Amino acid sequence: MDKIMSLAKRRGFIFQGSDIYGGLTGTWDFGPMGVELKNIVKRLWWDMFITRRSDMYGIESAILMNPKVWEASGHVQTFTDPLIDCKKCKSRFRADKIDASKGCPNCGAHEFTEARAFNLMFKTHAGPVEDSGSQVYLRPETAQGMFVNFKNIIDSFHPKLPFGIAQIGKAFRNEITPGNSIFRSREFEQMEIEYFVRENDWEKSFENWLSEMHRWMKMIGITNAHDREVPKEDLAHYSKRTVDIDFDYPFGREELYGIAYRTDFDLKNHIEKSGADLSYLEDDGNRFVPHVIEPTFGVERTILALLVSAFEEQQLEKDTRTVLHFKPQVAPVTVAVFPLVSNKENILEKARGVYTELKKEFRTAWDDIGNVGKRYRRQDEIGTPWCVTIDYDTLENDTVTVRDRDTMQQERVAIGDLPAFFREKLKA
Ligand code: ATP
Repeated sequence: MDKIMSLAKRRGFIFQGSDIYGGLTGTWDFGPMGVELKNIVKRLWWDMFITRRSDMYGIESAILMNPKVWEASGHVQTFTDPLIDCKKCKSRFRADKIDASKGCPNCGAHEFTEARAFNLMFKTHAGPVEDSGSQVYLRPETAQGMFVNFKNIIDSFHPKLPFGIAQIGKAFRNEITPGNSIFRSREFEQMEIEYFVRENDWEKSFENWLSEMHRWMKMIGITNAHDREVPKEDLAHYSKRTVDIDFDYPFGREELYGIAYRTDFDLKNHIEKSGADLSYLEDDGNRFVPHVIEPTFGVERTILALLVSAFEEQQLEKDTRTVLHFKPQVAPVTVAVFPLVSNKENILEKARGVYTELKKEFRTAWDDIGNVGKRYRRQDEIGTPWCVTIDYDTLENDTVTVRDRDTMQQERVAIGDLPAFFREKLKA
């Protein structure tokens, strides 16, 4: 994990939030490579689950919502983790995440306070008066945005069941013990789907969505994922069935994604608390409240799983090569262009031409610092699948070398053929 995080920092993926002030626990900033990777993930996800489907409606709801939303959803009452304090060193822990019989993970003492319920929602105030009437929460999940917009979607699009509403956005949780880098933070992004079905269809739909989630992971290159049926006694207050998809992180097997059958819990509660009619009218005049399947995906945990899946340290004859084997569709940089030398104007000019052309279509980087070997290493570390070098032969015959990240093989390709060459590779 330390190796991955130091690579992530060195190469501009992930930085500690507010770093120059000593950081702020549970917050992370994303550098040029990290934000590119995040945007790619979010774009691919949106494309697969919204744009390419005819039964999905994308939305973007506000982070601040009427506090009644969180009363109806049950978050005000039950969105809590059990908090215990070590009586000796005063460190705080989630009672369900430590083995108290082994003592305090910080000082080893065996004396803890009783566990008490700690609500994870961040509170703030809307407007200039800070009284209980102005109190609002930073949303702890994006899901409620879909439920409160259910009627808007029905009224404007008249969708037929089954259909889904989805969004990507920030969520905030005042985690007791954030940690393992971006795995558990206090501010993160979710990609969530609420898929509305007839009650009788929930099991079939659950299975379909679970396999769609696996198709997604395969497409972006996440390996080592395992389904875990959440036991009845551990289910969230709204769920009748939940499968967590766990991933083998360097710190152990933990949740990556989840899928839950939320029944009609949310819509029913919003009907009760808001008075709005959140029912669905069947063609035959039958009116009912749909049930819902919720596949949920954390963006940061996706990024971490991608980094872990892609990371390799290869022992070469003379040294070690660090590579991120990202799938080309996911890599923040698709092609890097190098002039063999940086002091020959005719080579530089040719290279600039290639760079400008490729940049129109592909995520293209330029590197003319140090020797070509060093540049390969830098690109390997950010997972760039192909490096193009413009050399003396290019001046003679308009061909360049294309070096493959995984095989380290080089081949000569005509400059004019480069776009088609990469297009073909990206299809694979
Ligand atoms: P955990 O048991 O790890 O606290 P959870 O079961 O509370 O997670 P959900 O409420 O199901 O998580 O949230 C949906 C998704 O949001 C998770 O599958 C995960 O990908 C992501 N997620 C949840 N909490 C965090 C967090 N603190 N930091 C980063 N991602 C998170």
